[in-house]
Amino acid sequence: MTFYPVCASDPHSVPGVPPEKALEMLKEGNARFVGEKAEHPHTKIDRVRDTAVNGQHPFVTMMACSDSRVPLEEIFDQGVGDIFSIRVAGNVSGSDEIGSIEYGVVHTGTRLLVVLGHTKCGAVTAACTGGGHEGNIENLMRALQPAVAVTESKTGKRGTEIIPQCCRENVFVQIENILKNSKILQESVKKGELTVVGAIYDIDTGCVEFLGQHPFTATLANGANGIPATRPVSMPRSVQSSYPAPAYRPVPATYSAGSYPVLVTEESSLPGQPQKPRRQGGVRNLLKRQ
Ligand SMILES: [Zn+2]
Repeated sequence: MTFYPVCASDPHSVPGVPPEKALEMLKEGNARFVGEKAEHPHTKIDRVRDTAVNGQHPFVTMMACSDSRVPLEEIFDQGVGDIFSIRVAGNVSGSDEIGSIEYGVVHTGTRLLVVLGHTKCGAVTAACTGGGHEGNIENLMRALQPAVAVTESKTGKRGTEIIPQCCRENVFVQIENILKNSKILQESVKKGELTVVGAIYDIDTGCVEFLGQHPFTATLANGANGIPATRPVSMPRSVQSSYPAPAYRPVPATYSAGSYPVLVTEESSLPGQPQKPRRQGGVRNLLKRQ
């Protein structure tokens, strides 16, 4: 794959495992896992003692779903101290998750961030079908609404039909949200110190498909100027459905096959709607802890 040379001087001069190497290690580990040739590295007690004494030096920061069928060290055949992991249902990126990612990049020195979705995600399924209204689960549903909106606009469909694609779209929606809301990560990407890629894990086969970088990585790293705002999603779905259909921008043809087509619409372009102040930081507000 091609890595995004945003404005790196010499990315290889930065400490830490280079992102190309880290990605290779993940691919090789997953191949071992799928091929039943797992080596289970770094799983002995001497590794535990070594990392306790000498500190952690993971080679990747990874944000993934909490789903028990997505155990990161297993599916990538890694061990203790290898993966700085953030796991939350639906792999959504609120401020705590973004802060954890920043920690993984700044304080443990990882140079590859992987946002890993998975097939048949229960949280995504609930978001697509209007479920998940219990307690604080509602907050997860709000954070998944941008992915649902993008998928609905691309497919013209709703509900169960869009679940597989929404699991993939959500990966890039979360990458976008992460970069939009982290000056630290923006700077790391701009300096060539960090590469951010999406991936999707197939819970039927055990295979991880790497989806590449967000097509607007450079724009996002430069403060998201020029990225269209997502449609308003903080309102309940019942209210959303009473709004006129949003005026989505046509998807650029170059992004229609396999890569993520960003998006969407300006709030002010909704026909018949009073203009509202644009939300600072895109979807950040709706991701704030209640
Ligand atoms: Zn899931």
